[in-house]
Amino acid sequence: MKRCENMKSSKRPKYRLKSSVVRFLIYALFFVSLTIYGYNGITNAIKEINYRDTYEYKLTSIGYSLEDTTKLISILKPERLEEILKEEKYNELYPNIINQKYFMAKNFEDYVTYKISHAKTSYEDTIAIVNVHADKGWYELDLNSKTEDGYLVLVNKFHHLNKNYKRTDLEDINLAYAYADNKAASIVIENFEQMHDAVLNELNIHLMVNSSYRPYEDQELIYNDYKNVSLKYADQYAARPGYSEHQTGLSLDITSLEHPGQKAFTESAEYEWLKNNAHKYGFILRYPENKDYITGYNTESWHFRYVGKDVATQIYNEKITFDEYYAYYIEK
Ligand SMILES: [Zn+2]
Repeated sequence: MKRCENMKSSKRPKYRLKSSVVRFLIYALFFVSLTIYGYNGITNAIKEINYRDTYEYKLTSIGYSLEDTTKLISILKPERLEEILKEEKYNELYPNIINQKYFMAKNFEDYVTYKISHAKTSYEDTIAIVNVHADKGWYELDLNSKTEDGYLVLVNKFHHLNKNYKRTDLEDINLAYAYADNKAASIVIENFEQMHDAVLNELNIHLMVNSSYRPYEDQELIYNDYKNVSLKYADQYAARPGYSEHQTGLSLDITSLEHPGQKAFTESAEYEWLKNNAHKYGFILRYPENKDYITGYNTESWHFRYVGKDVATQIYNEKITFDEYYAYYIEK
């Protein structure tokens, strides 16, 4: 009987065999896809459970955008993210801080602290103030100026030069360009002479250097003179010895033969010209208007600082002070 069956089936036409293979394949495919679908379903569910455990999920679900969340996660340690989550609601403070142009991750906590205690200060100013350390009191830090920064050395009310620091390339400024006894770094003189000639050509005005390199001892005399009145008075009108940019040999107090008085010079066409063109010669207006909370100095229309053409142009274009430039691009 069995034999008979076998004989029978071996006589079946070939196409019958093929159709059963096809049927088998269809079933197999259906079974396999069902398995895969089931497996994926399970892994997706697991993934979903795990995702709910991430900071990305937790922060986005209380209202932070995915972009801000990614930034916060890359900047902050898990403990700090936990603190933010404990607030249980979106806080505009964090996104506003981290999205500022000159934001630096290392200063995050200081920005937060400063902004909370100075609600009226803009985010932009908060970033600038903290970056240059002006959230501290003037002279409160005792940082050494890095003379290895060359003509980009920073000297301000937080960074000072040593008593013995003196550039080796100081030269006398020619009397056609300066009043007597003025010295500056040779590169400064070279560029000032070109700037002087440009102003003479364009405005028929003679720029003059009034004051330039000043040794530590001279600054000490000036400061102590003011200090005889009071410390507050001295700090208001003079830099402490070591803290004057004039010791770098890179600063020039500029006036003109035609408008020697401070007020006249501030209102002159040459001052306007310098504000818009000095960067082409490597100079910046070091203490611009309304930036005293960053520089520590009221506007000084006469005080120009050499930083080289590229940096001067960048500072001019970005409308920032040298303190801000240094903090963001050099000190970091
Ligand atoms: Zn000066």
